[in-house]
Amino acid sequence: MRTMTRQKYSGHFTKIVMGGVDTIRTLKLLGKWSANRAVGRRRPLIAVFSMTHYCNFYCPMCPFGDADKEGQMALARRKDLTTEQWKAVFDKVSKYCVWAIVEGGEPTSRPDFMELVKYLHGLKMPVTLISNCSLLHTIDLDELRKHIQFVTCSIDSTYEESYCKVRGVNPHMYRRVMDNLHLLTEHKVSHYFNSVITKYNTQEFIDQTYFDRARELGASAVSFTFVEDRSDVDYSLLPDRQTMNKVCESILDYMGKQKEKGGGPQVMIPPEYFRQILEHGRGIFDECGVWKSIFVNGDGTVMVPCWKFNGPENTYSLLEHSVDEIWSAPQWDIARTCHDCEVLGCIWYSSQPVSTFARNYMRGLGKIISQERPELAEAV
Ligand code: SF4
Ligand code: SF4
Repeated sequence: MRTMTRQKYSGHFTKIVMGGVDTIRTLKLLGKWSANRAVGRRRPLIAVFSMTHYCNFYCPMCPFGDADKEGQMALARRKDLTTEQWKAVFDKVSKYCVWAIVEGGEPTSRPDFMELVKYLHGLKMPVTLISNCSLLHTIDLDELRKHIQFVTCSIDSTYEESYCKVRGVNPHMYRRVMDNLHLLTEHKVSHYFNSVITKYNTQEFIDQTYFDRARELGASAVSFTFVEDRSDVDYSLLPDRQTMNKVCESILDYMGKQKEKGGGPQVMIPPEYFRQILEHGRGIFDECGVWKSIFVNGDGTVMVPCWKFNGPENTYSLLEHSVDEIWSAPQWDIARTCHDCEVLGCIWYSSQPVSTFARNYMRGLGKIISQERPELAEAV
């Protein structure tokens, strides 16, 4: 099996880039990752860079939605990594990770946003930008297109009223975002939608108008997660169980029709996610896969095993520690038995086999794995 795989590699050496992704680099890192895995050493494969503590939106499900924007800006000025510090972090992380997800706060609010994206591109890291899309009109989109794989548009509702409610913004901002989505289409920047389903936006999924409206806004694919309620607030944004079931049934119905007839945007989250929520009221996984991604906070820290265990004893700075040191920390053991994330799509995903994991934020990577390293496809 091993020899066959090696032979397969050599046959592909001339094909350096697949869908804009450097295949040789990706395969090298996947090989290193699985060799580590074989000796029981876990290391990250996907990088998530939370570029700033600042976001111009007010989403209640997100810590960056804080209403005190002046305080948040001051925090960002005080704690956000500088351009050079981010570059040093990118250098370290790029030795392990096949893909970079750039998010925030709102990453495009950083004045050096394009410089940092170009730097990642220079390191041959494919980049997914997750953005609320409200500032895209301030960016050179033709330049952006050259340096990223696609934009994941964080669009929780396609209707003005629900959108404004979920995101805590006014109708003027909603229209600005919609205009910016058209700009992405005009400038041929690949984009898809990622939506958090809360009690405020269930109707458009139940009546399936969400899909038509997403297509009209240029999204060829969509991904969702139910909201995972925050433990630091005393309100719940999750719809009741009956409504969640209606949403799941309707999305599964749409996926069935879409598979048969095509037409609307493709749903990037597998049907199992919705089936499990229908059946068990939550997503099911044996062991949390949060260790497969390195989530770097705006100040360069990493929390082990995740943000829910936020405390100085679990926080490591990438400016001071190596990835190897951080991934050898004893706190990773917490994730071996923790199942606290019940419906959070990204954690459900990362706890699934790698090929499933790769299908969501990293389109193109799944294809490389299934074509070049099929034995990895079922690795957990
Ligand atoms: S737009 Fe995104 S980062 Fe900003 S507050 Fe909302 S969910 Fe958080
Ligand atoms: S399941 Fe537990 S360890 Fe995993 S991300 Fe959620 S809270 Fe963290």
